[in-house]
Amino acid sequence: MRDREFLNIQFLPSLTLVFAFGFFVLVNFVIIASFLSPPKAESKPNKIKYLQIPIWGFHDLIDLNNKQNKPPYRREFDSDYSKQDLEKFLEYLLENNYWFLSTNDFYEYFLVNSKIIPAEYADKKPIILTFDDGYRGIKNNLLPLLENLEKKYKQKVKVVLFVNPGLMSTVDDDILYLSCADLKEGYEKGFYDIQSHGLSHLKLTELDVEKLSFELSKAKLLLRNCINDKKIASHLAYPNGAYNDKVEEYTQKYYLSAYIYDNKLASCAPKDKRRYQIHRYQAFRGVSPLKLIETTQKAFEIIN
Ligand SMILES: [Zn+2]
Repeated sequence: MRDREFLNIQFLPSLTLVFAFGFFVLVNFVIIASFLSPPKAESKPNKIKYLQIPIWGFHDLIDLNNKQNKPPYRREFDSDYSKQDLEKFLEYLLENNYWFLSTNDFYEYFLVNSKIIPAEYADKKPIILTFDDGYRGIKNNLLPLLENLEKKYKQKVKVVLFVNPGLMSTVDDDILYLSCADLKEGYEKGFYDIQSHGLSHLKLTELDVEKLSFELSKAKLLLRNCINDKKIASHLAYPNGAYNDKVEEYTQKYYLSAYIYDNKLASCAPKDKRRYQIHRYQAFRGVSPLKLIETTQKAFEIIN
């Protein structure tokens, strides 16, 4: 007992020093470690679906069973697509729960999120089908196809027409353009979303600002004179896909969004909401319906 007391008394100051030193080291270690180690992640695992939308760009539609649609009666163009192949693609879309968006739907539900997607569309896969230039093949071949598909599937396929009102009812390279009455017919039947492709299909990048403004504003005016609806001609597809900073700047004065061709899926990710460079795929003659389907399906792969 005595010995123990002796020992305790003898070692008490040095033990206190050891503990104090140890505490000092520990505190410093914690402080240094807190600076060196990254903060703990507070975010939850990302389960959000990264949503991309396939937007297809077609031009004229030809009927392979109509000799008037083929040489020597009609020249062939790379941008033509056949009614027969398009029918296969549309049947796939109708059988697989797709939602045919108008340009305004895309703008409101996906680009600026000013509207919440209605419950009836919540589990559907959005897609946009566009047709540039407003050729008469739209009236002769596309509209009857859409009407037949509606009878068969009890669902309407909405298509976007990017039209040059300065070319309406004219003929170029023996190819006829739609008239205002043709546009009205498909619009009133609920199949057409009619939007602008510029007044007369001039390359907007080659125009001075006065002519550029005229091409953009006059196109909008004439289309709205043809069809009295403020959703008409609110969006633009650049003629020839040609755009630059100046064209984008002037487009913003007259249109809510604009479409390009770059064979990419349109993204709805926040970082990529460039409204005046909306991606589109171009469907050429010879691109099989199967290829259109495979590309379309890519949009709906979930990326974490
Ligand atoms: Zn065009």
